[in-house]
Amino acid sequence: AKETGKSKCSFFEQYMEENGKSKLALLSDIKKGLINNEFTIYYQPQVNLKSGSLNGFEALVRWNHPIKGTIAPDTFIPLAEESGLINKLGQFILNQACKDASSWPKHLKVSVNVSALQFTKNTLVEDIFNALKSSNLASEQLEIELTESVMINNYEYVVKVLNNLRERGVKVALDDFGTGYSSLSYLQEIPLDKLKIDRSFVEKLNVVDNTQATAIVKSIISLAQALNFETTIEGIESANQIAIFKGMGSTYGQGYYYSKPIDSASTISLINNWNNK
Ligand code: C2E
Ligand code: CA
Ligand code: CA
Ligand code: CA
Repeated sequence: AKETGKSKCSFFEQYMEENGKSKLALLSDIKKGLINNEFTIYYQPQVNLKSGSLNGFEALVRWNHPIKGTIAPDTFIPLAEESGLINKLGQFILNQACKDASSWPKHLKVSVNVSALQFTKNTLVEDIFNALKSSNLASEQLEIELTESVMINNYEYVVKVLNNLRERGVKVALDDFGTGYSSLSYLQEIPLDKLKIDRSFVEKLNVVDNTQATAIVKSIISLAQALNFETTIEGIESANQIAIFKGMGSTYGQGYYYSKPIDSASTISLINNWNNK
């Protein structure tokens, strides 16, 4: 959370300096960007570590700013959250991701990040089912990723929403696991399918003998297995890491080693080439 705050701040400062704009003006730029279709979704493969097969993609939003070029989400998502604009943006992301995923083979899933703020809106379930319906995507093809911060306030409502989604086949993954609030008691309360192990642990694990990081990741994986959750390792950047995490029994992996996030059109050739490998 500290890091996000830092990058948010430097982005704001830089943006405001260069453009002589206030935070409010930046907000209005985001609003305009939504109207002008400046937001687009990139996709990063998620891979079954055991078989090497493609399991699906995570949807990651980008802002194609008319002057500044591609802007990363860490810089505008926090402001969109702070201002409540995340609901509109989040709805666009859900709709677009489901639409893009509907042209993939049926066995591939799309994982969509849902901000904790979106859980304060009482139409979230409806919005998600509408996105599935209008794109003709099977609910089994959709996974949502949420962070532990979702549990701070409206805990009972969140559990209700997640139960509702899971009953219809939508999967739920807990993102950035091991960072943030990390009270293990949440794991008993949130209806979950998957834990995504944060990149910060993975970074340190490009050498087999980093005993601390190894111990942490190993124990998260065995905790997940005991609770019947699948696991995804984030931020895999080397073949060596694949071997390590496969050996530890993690289900899925994701990272630059496989592919950086790519645009929707490029997912089709990646899917075809994957099958031919
Ligand atoms: P996240 O959900 O943890 O997404 C993973 C981030 O790690 C992505 O950054 C991805 O590009 C990056 N990444 C993946 N593999 C590697 C790797 O091997 N090495 C390194 N160094 N980085 C890797 P991105 O796309 O900049 O997204 C940053 C964060 O912004 C996301 O973190 C998520 O919290 C948020 N975000 C992105 N898209 C959305 C969205 O559609 N909705 C919401 N609410 N948040 C989003
Ligand atoms: Ca995520
Ligand atoms: Ca993550
Ligand atoms: Ca993150």
